[in-house]
Amino acid sequence: MPFPLVYRVPKSIKNKILKALRIELVRITSELMGCPKEWVSPDFFRSALKDPATSDEGSSTVLVKLETSIFHGRTNDDQEIQKVLKALVDAVFEAFGGQYAVEIGVVDWHPDWKYLRKVLYCQMPECNGTLKVETFSMQTGCHSTSPCRACTTCGRVHSDTGGFMFSRAGESIFLRKRKIKKVFEPVEFTPGEKYKTTSWLWLGLDEEQLEAGTELVFVRMDDEIFCFHGPNKVEYRLYRGNVTFIEPVLTAD
Ligand SMILES: [Zn+2]
Repeated sequence: MPFPLVYRVPKSIKNKILKALRIELVRITSELMGCPKEWVSPDFFRSALKDPATSDEGSSTVLVKLETSIFHGRTNDDQEIQKVLKALVDAVFEAFGGQYAVEIGVVDWHPDWKYLRKVLYCQMPECNGTLKVETFSMQTGCHSTSPCRACTTCGRVHSDTGGFMFSRAGESIFLRKRKIKKVFEPVEFTPGEKYKTTSWLWLGLDEEQLEAGTELVFVRMDDEIFCFHGPNKVEYRLYRGNVTFIEPVLTAD
């Protein structure tokens, strides 16, 4: 029978979260391991200590051990087993708000039956905050994905995979005091310098597109419009929503 046992549960995690997580672990385990729900016995073991304040005190990684003999006879690289392990880790990772790395192993069986999910960190320069899963809804336009993760330090909102989120107009999105804040961050281009697109851009009504990686030379600002020359000296007029997907071309000096 399967026992998904979660060790080193941080002190800050409330019982309410563990009760909901128990139901989720039973569901995942019974579905993916093909056994009745009443066979599955999850449990939680709290950490005796506060989260480490410095690296001298080690890590706060949560450990999940799956005790079971159901996998008897399976091979090291069994994909079904990897799926179970990943699903259990993801459930614990999300329940704990993405604030703790989570590692899982199958007790006493193959050494390769394990999986680690790491914490995501803020991409803002100088900020090393962790990204926390948030459940607010947000309309950010065609480059957005959901769910979102907000930095616990500066509030900058990231996508589920850790990239920056922008509004359709090109504003940077922050979550501060539970409210969405959209900020136009200063965008500076130097006339004559080379830049390139980091994503496909659709320009205006005539459906003109710029491929990812297109080289552009910045010419001038025209009110709030950024003017670039593309290949063959074609002029492109870009809005803020576009220029967040343009970066300098680094030249080797
Ligand atoms: Zn941050």
